[in-house]
Amino acid sequence: MKMNFDERAAYEKMKAGVLTSTGFLGSDTRPLSDIVEADEELFRALGLDFNIVAERLDTLARQGAEGLGEPITVEGQYLVKSDEARGKLPCPYGDGLYHKNAVSVQKGEDTVIYSDLSLHLLRVHHFCQGQGSPFRLDPVVLKRLLF
Ligand SMILES: [Zn+2]
Repeated sequence: MKMNFDERAAYEKMKAGVLTSTGFLGSDTRPLSDIVEADEELFRALGLDFNIVAERLDTLARQGAEGLGEPITVEGQYLVKSDEARGKLPCPYGDGLYHKNAVSVQKGEDTVIYSDLSLHLLRVHHFCQGQGSPFRLDPVVLKRLLF
């Protein structure tokens, strides 16, 4: 990914306690560009597309919203819990404000948790969040969960 975003500024905002209490990096100590590149490679290796994955997660979130905060079964195989948005959160790259919601999608042993901002980070910045971040969208887990 080569865009004219200020990666250094974004990285600072991703640290715990800046935009959110837990931040976006988890226990990952790699530079931001390495995290993004490694996940881009993994997406390619797994045959995943960032836009298609983001669309699938977005669709599941919208279906899950019908549960009004209670977990509901979606598409006969996913347990989706969609918590209402409370306020907004800026993208660490500084290109927009996103609802501060939390959606969890579970199938079998796998669970992913994400927000509108997570989907934007995935779509536009190819950023799945650092290892150990509670909101990390791990490519291997996404592949098992969605396809
Ligand atoms: Zn952004």
